[in-house]
Amino acid sequence: MSGEGPQPQAIRKLQRGKLVIASHNQGKVAEFRELLAPYGVELLSAAELDLPEPEETGTTFVANAELKALSAADLSGLPALSDDSGLCVEALGGDPGLFSARWAGPDKDFGMAMRLVEDRLSEEPETPREAHFICALALAWPDGHVEWFEGRVDGCIVWPPRGDKGHGYDPIFQPLGYDKTFAEIDPAVKNAISHRADAFRQLTDAVF
Ligand code: IMP
Repeated sequence: MSGEGPQPQAIRKLQRGKLVIASHNQGKVAEFRELLAPYGVELLSAAELDLPEPEETGTTFVANAELKALSAADLSGLPALSDDSGLCVEALGGDPGLFSARWAGPDKDFGMAMRLVEDRLSEEPETPREAHFICALALAWPDGHVEWFEGRVDGCIVWPPRGDKGHGYDPIFQPLGYDKTFAEIDPAVKNAISHRADAFRQLTDAVF
């Protein structure tokens, strides 16, 4: 016995050609397009291909990203990329977490979702306000192979909400080392330090 563990599996590279973005969210598709522009892949969206949106039944961000990417790869016969993201507040046991979008309800009322976070946090005085955003990316191939990457940005919850630049929970999230919220800082700065940027850097370093 050599005493060494099994060799780590080599990460599968993504060849130039078609790649499906397994999302029906036009904003996300546009963001993926911009981030992947330098890599010479031809992007097709799930909506363009009329692919169904699978139910997000996973219990982790990675599991949800994987099931969306695998479904799109299987149905299209092409490699597919998907993401799943959310805000996790430490003192709330990681909530809203996987349910970040759902806390805003069918009307996507993030004013209400942010107030819910604050109401829960201020139930107890002196509750720590640490929080982080997570972004899981999954790249799946039609043969069922998947590579996944998880990005993260740490910060804290502030109240009241500040700024009008971002989306979702941006007005109450202040990243570590900054005195502005994600909704106040220049979007180019957010896009360089965000959970999504972190996950994308890992993905592009690994698969291209
Ligand atoms: P997904 O579309 O299932 O990934 O849901 C992500 C949800 O998490 C969004 O609807 C937002 O509520 C929240 N979220 C994820 N990333 C961000 C961000 O960068 N800023 C603010 N909210 C975010």
